[in-house]
Amino acid sequence: MDAIPDSPCATTSHTVLEAKTGISRARLPEPFLVSLYRGLAPYRGCEHACAYCDGRAEKYFVEGQFDRDISVRMNLAERVAADVSSHALAREYGSICIGSGVTDVYQPLERELGIMRKVLGHLSETGLPLVILTKSDVILRDFDILSRFPRVLVIVTVTTVNDEDARLLEPGASSAAARLAVVRLAKERGFSSGVMAMPLCPGISDVDESFSALLDAASAAGADFVYPGGLTLRPGSQKDAFLSVIDARYPALRPLYDRLYRENRQSGMPVADVGRTFVKNLDRRVRERGLPQMIPHRVYRDLLCPPDAFFVLLCHMQSLYSLRGIDTRPLKAATDRFADSLAAERTALRRKRTIVADSDPFPITRILTERFVQRMAVSSGADSLAALLGNDRLAMLAANLQEKGAYFDYPSLQVMTESL
Ligand code: SF4
Repeated sequence: MDAIPDSPCATTSHTVLEAKTGISRARLPEPFLVSLYRGLAPYRGCEHACAYCDGRAEKYFVEGQFDRDISVRMNLAERVAADVSSHALAREYGSICIGSGVTDVYQPLERELGIMRKVLGHLSETGLPLVILTKSDVILRDFDILSRFPRVLVIVTVTTVNDEDARLLEPGASSAAARLAVVRLAKERGFSSGVMAMPLCPGISDVDESFSALLDAASAAGADFVYPGGLTLRPGSQKDAFLSVIDARYPALRPLYDRLYRENRQSGMPVADVGRTFVKNLDRRVRERGLPQMIPHRVYRDLLCPPDAFFVLLCHMQSLYSLRGIDTRPLKAATDRFADSLAAERTALRRKRTIVADSDPFPITRILTERFVQRMAVSSGADSLAALLGNDRLAMLAANLQEKGAYFDYPSLQVMTESL
């Protein structure tokens, strides 16, 4: 691989990596980040150097030192341009997610190279919505391009508003105040925006005082949601790197971490009972503030077509009800049936090359949506949504949401209309 000749940062090594594709698409939307398409990141490795970053884990095969040896896909914008002009991308409406991998697309190097700016320029020609994640205020540079997308969701990761903890845990990222300013400015621009509060580190950022301060700051910035999550420590490089920071800076917490992560699970999860209680507690604390505790239906129903948004809602409802101790097996069975049907329909339609974008830029989406609405209109029988789901109440919920233009409110678990 060639070195980038005029590397702007003397402390890191930058090498060129070739991107073979720019955008990939799925058979079903990804529920966590409510997106149908996924964009490749320009970088491998990350100068933000977060102590807890799971990109250090052997599982991801990032060569060299994760936060110093950065590989750059210099040809990414060309690959994205080729994907954008391809027939396949243009036939279906659904958000493109950028920044979901184990690297930050707006790390310091991006300020110099500007690859994201070119990538976004090409993506804005698709007429598709965008979901973008970062821990950096460099994204503000590209707000003018984001304004060209029909809908935008800017997700900013903030794990603590304590500057000293942030400096130790996320030394290369923008300050928490600068990140929360991104949320505020995104909202002022008319974008949706929320806070990914993960990972919350035990004894540091998950403690009441710290997490309450984060919730206050996110609310003040106008965040549409705060999505909390715990820390995973995969055995090997990630766990070793994180515990070395704990030993150096928070030595009193080492016994706590030894206890929580003693099982050395490959997933990096803490011991099961503790992890479950921890997540339940976070969920309760967010919803007590009246904030959605994951990307809310009110936001993503405009980022996806109606059947895809309903699929994501079913997935989210499983988490929401499970956290309240409700048996979600019937819901899971309905979700699986709906998912199988939707994925099969989509695959069959994609194979039909005769369905082309004409005056309608998203003909596959139109057909999928028409079928979904037709199923709702039939109250019983094999073609009804109730029969497909095996659940009358969920079919009624879908019809209710569709007819009233309503949304499902996560803190209250109620259907709401915009006027409420
Ligand atoms: S910003 Fe994300 S990818 Fe970069 S070091 Fe931090 S956790 Fe890892």
